[in-house]
Amino acid sequence: MLIDRFGRRITYLRISVTDRCNLRCVYCLPASGVEWIAREEILRVEEIAEVVRVGVALGLTRVRLTGGEPLVREGVVELVRLLSAIPQLEDLSLTTNGVLLARRAEALARAGLRRANISLDTLLANRFSRITRFGSIGDVRAGIEAALDAGLHPVKLNVVVMRGVNDDEIVELGRLAVDRPLHVRFIELMPIGDYFARERLVPSEEILARLSALGELRPFDGPVGCGPARAYTWAGARGSVGIIGAVTQAFCARCNRLRLTATGQLRPCLDQESAVDLLPALRPAVDRERLAHLIRDAVAAKPEQHTMAQREVGSPRLCMAGVGG
Ligand code: SAM
Repeated sequence: MLIDRFGRRITYLRISVTDRCNLRCVYCLPASGVEWIAREEILRVEEIAEVVRVGVALGLTRVRLTGGEPLVREGVVELVRLLSAIPQLEDLSLTTNGVLLARRAEALARAGLRRANISLDTLLANRFSRITRFGSIGDVRAGIEAALDAGLHPVKLNVVVMRGVNDDEIVELGRLAVDRPLHVRFIELMPIGDYFARERLVPSEEILARLSALGELRPFDGPVGCGPARAYTWAGARGSVGIIGAVTQAFCARCNRLRLTATGQLRPCLDQESAVDLLPALRPAVDRERLAHLIRDAVAAKPEQHTMAQREVGSPRLCMAGVGG
């Protein structure tokens, strides 16, 4: 079992399978873009699977694939196949911007993917293109339908709420969970990169109050309620809404996760630059014992809490690319 210094049991690994992305969301990547990491520095699919096998033997039970954009990574379906073959891995999910999902959902589901989170910050086509800098909302909507058709369950939508940008759509986005079997997760804007400004942050209590316009909210306790989101639903609704108050309602006391970057750095906390380098245990040859030691080192290095609530400006780290947000 993996237990950190504060008694938290670590069971969840978020894996960034690539730093590359086919969108440039304003809150995630700078307009100028970033220099992508050379391919040979990115972990190979088999190397990622090895980290998960060792992690699972130590006590990890859940894995989420993210990025960058995981669906631009060649071999992502193969990776899902390798991971879903690990018997003790109880949950395998993916976070995607959905642009390529219509083409991939069926193959991913067949390879063993259970569920997906799809990022969608607006229902308005022009606004979508402004937030993502050049994405097309039609691709994402088609991706959502493909995920439902492929039997991925639950399908969650991630909405980053920004005051003056998309907060006027909270109710309309929430309504998706009334009419469709979708689980909409509203995420507080985190202080990452130079887009962040405190005025843009809409606190979770305010998001919740606005969602009450659709009727009396009742706690939702379905299979999707196990993450950091506080989840709710309405009588007769087909899905649920949830609030991830990463900044104002830090869930550090319940944090059960580690993050593996695309280059093999195991980060104890999203908010921390420091990481444990797994590469020496992966190249030139896999050393499973050393890998296990390094995973334990990362667990031991988990801080008690992040410091995002105190921050007035975004952390200097440029973007989420390769970190696995
Ligand atoms: N490309 C995939 C996607 O768009 O979902 C996966 C990677 S993305 C970094 C993972 C999640 O992090 C997305 O839901 C995105 O909206 C969220 N995210 C990125 N930057 C954020 C920020 N500054 N504050 C809150 N959420 C953020």
